[in-house]
Amino acid sequence: MRSLLKINSNKLALRTFTMSFPQLTAARKSELIENYEDILSQVNAAATSPVRLVAVSKLKPSSDIMALYEHGVRHFGENYVQELVSKAKELPKDICWHFIGGLQSGKCKDLGRDVESLFAVETIDALKKCKKLDAARKSSGLAPIRIYLQVNTSSEEQKSGYTLDNIDEIYETVDYLLNKKECTSLELEGLMTIGSFAESTSDGELNEDFAKLVGLKKTLDEKYSLDLLLSMGMSNDFVTAIEQGSTSVRVGSSIFGARPPRNGH
Ligand SMILES: *Cc1c(COP(=O)(O)O)cnc(C)c1O
Repeated sequence: MRSLLKINSNKLALRTFTMSFPQLTAARKSELIENYEDILSQVNAAATSPVRLVAVSKLKPSSDIMALYEHGVRHFGENYVQELVSKAKELPKDICWHFIGGLQSGKCKDLGRDVESLFAVETIDALKKCKKLDAARKSSGLAPIRIYLQVNTSSEEQKSGYTLDNIDEIYETVDYLLNKKECTSLELEGLMTIGSFAESTSDGELNEDFAKLVGLKKTLDEKYSLDLLLSMGMSNDFVTAIEQGSTSVRVGSSIFGARPPRNGH
């Protein structure tokens, strides 16, 4: 009897969510589900151990997310703090949000405080940002956030991330994250990189950027007795990434279609 009541109230909650934004056409719904299932089967075919598929929904409407949510998808990736905050407010609370966009220090507070079901922040590239995010999360009393350190493995100037020629900076951040007296609301989970376009389109079997991230994982695992996870691979290169050891791929346009330009930026 009790469980029946619970199911009914969940259904009710779902109904209120779907009513706050326009419904999709049946054609769009099945397109999204087909795309997702197609990518998922490619992920599973390439994987020899479990790999998470994060659906990157930046600049796509909440109704798109809701269609995949109703299909059972829970992990979604977003790039802009304000967009994530407003989507998280109107969408179900059991969505596991991944923040994968460039993170400015000034936005750490909003991100840590205003997204209750923030599952992971994958783009930490400075100790200062860890401290700000930890403080915001701590004072909000919400569950800890998983952290991925972003590494600029391709050394492209326009990309953020720690660089491999300044490894002491990475050690300093890891030391902080593992110091549980100081850092109580963040948990180091892994490393993240965005492979360069050149590497993702080259004919070579091995993506050098992904290989560098795997090398760094080995160094850190040994130094700190960890088993870090790896977030690498997007629409263009997720199969290669999985073959090289990725445990989490971030796929956007192959699921949702091309993105509109971002207004005002
Ligand atoms: C946008 C984005 C993705 C998804 O890229 P697609 O090529 O559309 O799959 C993945 N990771 C990051 C960091 C992104 O910004």
